[in-house]
Parts: sequence; structure tokens; C-alpha cells
Amino acid sequence: MTNTMLPVKSNFSSRTTVHVDLDAVAHNIRALKQRCRPGTGLMAVVKANAYGHGAVNVSRTALENGACFLAVARFFEAVTLREAGITSPILIFGDMMPADIPWLAHQDVRISLSCLETAKAVSRAALDNNLVVKAHIKVDTGMGRLGFMSEPKKILTDMIRIMALDGLYVEGVYTHLANADAKDKTHAMEQIKSFNILLDLLSSRNAKPKICHAANSAALIELPKTHYNMVRAGISLYGLWPSNEVDHTVINLKPAMSIRSKIIHLKLVPENFKVSYGSTYETLHPTKIATVPIGYADGYSRQLSSKGHMLVQGIKAPVAGRVCMDFTMIDVGYIPGAAMGDDVVIMGEQGNEKITSDDIAVQAGTINYEVVAALTGRMPIEYSYGNKKKS
Ligand SMILES: *Cc1c(COP(=O)(O)O)cnc(C)c1O
Repeated sequence: MTNTMLPVKSNFSSRTTVHVDLDAVAHNIRALKQRCRPGTGLMAVVKANAYGHGAVNVSRTALENGACFLAVARFFEAVTLREAGITSPILIFGDMMPADIPWLAHQDVRISLSCLETAKAVSRAALDNNLVVKAHIKVDTGMGRLGFMSEPKKILTDMIRIMALDGLYVEGVYTHLANADAKDKTHAMEQIKSFNILLDLLSSRNAKPKICHAANSAALIELPKTHYNMVRAGISLYGLWPSNEVDHTVINLKPAMSIRSKIIHLKLVPENFKVSYGSTYETLHPTKIATVPIGYADGYSRQLSSKGHMLVQGIKAPVAGRVCMDFTMIDVGYIPGAAMGDDVVIMGEQGNEKITSDDIAVQAGTINYEVVAALTGRMPIEYSYGNKKKS
């Protein structure tokens, strides 16, 4: 038997796509830079595939529009950026393995250090290879996650020890705020107070690293005292707000992402018709049920079962029954003329209506960060830039 080859399409097509407007990202970066004190560097946080927006294209756009540093959470995320030819400084927030040290040193990727033992292991691994790794020391001033945690004097001693290690260059020191997005800034300012005590001690020993940073998006927008000489902007790059408690009027952010699909199946159904797994949804009267090819395997949360909405012909259509792995049904019975092949907006604008990541987050019981970061990569991302499409 011979193998018969089927013709292969060079461009995979999908009815459900994520659209990312890189002009919006560019606009957001410029607006955020303007909000910073003059001379503050902007680190674009592009972890988790740039919060679902596509790390490589977002990084390029960010760097072209004023960002000078990139940050990721995982080693392989830094590898992806370097393999795409991005040469800017990159900081990894998460941990690394000593085996990764040679690559990190060669590629000029900065690591975060949260304890002396790791610093010693890194130093040894670097020295074995005759290399120097750049590091930012992370200090826990109240986040309770990563970072040196103790009296500033003890941290100072440890930091000075690390600075004395060969094979390591301490380029930065940073902390992370747990409540910068709250209306009440007391905790954030307490964290900044402890950080300042450490920075003063470092200065007094002439040991203050070149780069100091603390601000996430919320602090960038609302707490200029946290800017130091670099800020770390994540969610705001994408035009989304860190929380509803952050003042939306002080800066103009444009959401960059929309998710669009098509009605791929439409059926007229009688009353008492049951829809999807578990038959949890039952029609009250004859209606039209449309099937849309997006499901929880794409990152459309199953929590949206019978709760979410999608736009068809500029009208909100409710999700009918459980969200499946690959499909979701919506009730379009009261949308005149809703038809096969109609455009469906899952997130974004259509006509005079819109569905935001915040709307979806409320219905799914989460935050906008998770709505975008949870997209799995099964949906292709289409970019527009300079009002032109690119793939
Ligand atoms: C994710 C992250 C950020 C970005 O936070 P946003 O609220 O998205 O701006 C900044 N710093 C660290 C350490 C992070 O992990």
C-alpha cells in the first residue's frame, strides 16, 4: 500500500482567533512611560506569553516604544525571546537550575536571587564555566512569596556577601508589593518603607546596585514614590486595569486583545429543549441555539457555563448550558436574523456593545489577569500594527 499524501494547507485557519492590536500596546507603553518620573526605565512584563497576547510580538512592540527591559517568570520564556532574536536585557522572576547558568550568562539574561545558598550555587556554576551571571536580589517586604526576608541589617550582610562572590554581578535589587492595587495604600507604603531602609543601608556601604525596582502596574499608576529607577509593568501594557480600585481616570489605557469566532452551527429548538453536558440548561420557549467553537481547552472557563455572554449582531447572547472542551452554545433566539457564519465576539466590541475581560472575570469568579493568561495557545493570534494585519 502506498501512502497518499493529502494536500497540506500552509496556513492553518481557525474560526476562533485572538486579535492583538499592537498599536494599543504601543499606546499603553507610551502612556505608562509618561506617567513615570523622568529617567525611570520601563520593564515590560511579558511572562505567560505576554499574558496570553504573544510574548515575541508584544516584546518587540514594547521595546520599540520605550521599554528598556523585559521580564518573564520562567527560564524557557527567556529562551523563547532569545530564540526569536530579541537582544534586550531580560530578567527572570522565577528560579533557575544551576545547569542553566552557562546559557543565562552567555545570553545576558538576569536571574533573581532570594537566598544566599542559591547565590553560592550560581557562583560555583558560573566559575566552573568561567562566566559571570547578572542577578537582581529580591527582598520580601510583605508579599510572602520570594525574596530575602529578615531585618534590613541581616539582608545587607547577605547582600554584601553575594556581591563578593565571583561569577556573579549584582545589577539590581527589588521587592514586590502585595496590595498596590487596593484603595488603601497603607500596606504598600509600609513595604516601601522597609525597602527604603535597606536601600539607605546599601548606600551607606556604597553597595547600592545600579537598578532598584518595586512598582507593578498599580504602583506605577498610583504611587510615584515606588518608581525608583525602574518600574515593572504587566497588566497595564495590555490595556487592562490591575483592579477596580485603581483610578481609571489618571491614564488612558487601550485594551489590546479581542477574541472572535463564528457561529458554526445553528438549530431551531422547541421549548423544554436541553443543551450540553448534564442537560443543565432547558429552553423556556422555542428558540435558536448557536454553537461557537471555543471551549475550556482554549481557556474559556467552564465557570462561564450558563453565566457568560457573547456578542452576535451587536447583541449580548447568553451562554446556554455547560461550556465544553471545544464548543460553547449560546441562545440567540431573540437576535433577529442571527444566522450560520455570523461573527461572534467573545471578548471585545461589536456594534455598540462590548464584553471586557473584567466582565468575563466577574462571571467566571476570577480576575482579568487570569482571563487572558489562561488562554491556552490553541487559538491562533492575529496581530494588527500600523493598522495593518500581520501574522
Ligand atoms: C507579574 C509581576 C509583575 C507585573 O504585575 P502587574 O500587576 O501585571 O503589572 C511585576 N512584578 C513581579 C515580580 C511580577 O511577578
